[in-house]
Amino acid sequence: MYLSDTIVACATAPGRGAIAIVRLSGPQCVAIAERMFQPRSQCGLEPWRLTRGNVIDSRSGQCLDDALAVYCPAPRTYTGEDVLEFHCHGAPVVVEQVVAGAVACGARVAEPGEFSRRAVLNGKMDLLQAEAIADLVNARVAAGARAAWDQLQGALSRRLQSIRHDLLRVLADVEASLDFSDDELPEEDCQRRVDAIAAVQKEIRNLLSGFSASRRVRNGIRVVFTGLPNAGKSSLINRLLGFGRMIVSKEPGTTRDVVEECVDLGGMAFVLADTAGLRESDSSAETEAVSRARATLREADVTVCVVDSSVPYDAADAEGGGMPREETGARRVVVFNKSDLACVLTRAARESLSRRADRVLRASAATGEGCDALGEALREIGSDITGPEAAGISRIRHQEALGRTLESLAAARTLAADETVPELVALELRQALRELESLTQPFDNEEVLDRIFAEFCIGK
Ligand code: GDP
Repeated sequence: MYLSDTIVACATAPGRGAIAIVRLSGPQCVAIAERMFQPRSQCGLEPWRLTRGNVIDSRSGQCLDDALAVYCPAPRTYTGEDVLEFHCHGAPVVVEQVVAGAVACGARVAEPGEFSRRAVLNGKMDLLQAEAIADLVNARVAAGARAAWDQLQGALSRRLQSIRHDLLRVLADVEASLDFSDDELPEEDCQRRVDAIAAVQKEIRNLLSGFSASRRVRNGIRVVFTGLPNAGKSSLINRLLGFGRMIVSKEPGTTRDVVEECVDLGGMAFVLADTAGLRESDSSAETEAVSRARATLREADVTVCVVDSSVPYDAADAEGGGMPREETGARRVVVFNKSDLACVLTRAARESLSRRADRVLRASAATGEGCDALGEALREIGSDITGPEAAGISRIRHQEALGRTLESLAAARTLAADETVPELVALELRQALRELESLTQPFDNEEVLDRIFAEFCIGK
């Protein structure tokens, strides 16, 4: 991948629309514009101004579209390079021809994420901010978009920067003593370094502890519905979704596989998973479905145990049916469904089913009664799980890099406690610094960059 060539791609979503934007970035933007754009105005294509004109196929001279073009000279652009955009009519065939026209004039079709990759390589943003752009584009709910926006504004980068400064200070302290390593270091100096390293470790651990919360903010809190077949799990989920995504049927065992849907409850993302009822069966398909349901339950942040209150409950079923048997650490909500029908549950059954529940609700998926309360309960539990902090790390890449930083810091701390080897302490601290910097800085590991930007769409 070369920074010396000019890349082109459609920056808007594929498909038909009012307009589509074809974007070019690189040193040949002006030359390409001269060959394929004929401005209507005498002033020509002035920088930073939308100019109307004809987009021309330079090979045939044929007019491809009547469009607006804008030329943005480097370096104050997204990529830090010259950027040229054609705002065409939003027809896929027009886009295809304009892109092909640019290629005929010397541009190359961009790889996924190549515009953002250039922005990073040209120092316009760090890797975390580039990832935030991908997160923002993919955000499904307001909370996820807000977290991505904070990261884009540098909230996480600043937090890491401050850790980096602390780390640099310890390193400078250790390196200052290298020249005098023959002399025994005063004990208080060793202790000061051990304490300083411990403080950096603590900061990193704080960041790591927010990992699952920020992932939940972005990817959704996992809510798994469980209970006996026919209890009304699918119907309740449909109520929460507001549309008929799940199959609802009178025949028990309809939901054989785990079905998931993302829903926005008050700006917070939830992934609602409907599982097959937990029950013993002779059918191998059903047994498989139940085993998948159990696997899904193990990953739940919240389990919603749905109980049909209109049928008697066999106490022997209480463990296997209404409640997942194993303790998963998930929050529990128990819903006594079908409140529109007479409740036949004994008090003992209700108490047994409500055991260890964080919330107990009565609802009717048929009439909608109690469904808002269920949504509200999920929202409250959700904000309790995610906490107030949003500008945390959210990717496995971040978690792994911080994990490696901690490993080197732990080694440095052990060595620092041993008063005789400052060189080795410095070595471990430098390694920790490299790991930490890999989160934000473009570094010479093309493979890692490839992996990060492959997640982006073309034109981003
Ligand atoms: P699941 O197997 O637990 O997913 O249950 P379904 O959502 O498929 O519902 C099973 C049956 O119960 C269907 O006939 C639903 O229409 C019915 N049902 C679900 N919720 C209610 C309710 O609150 N009241 C009444 N009367 N029927 C319900």
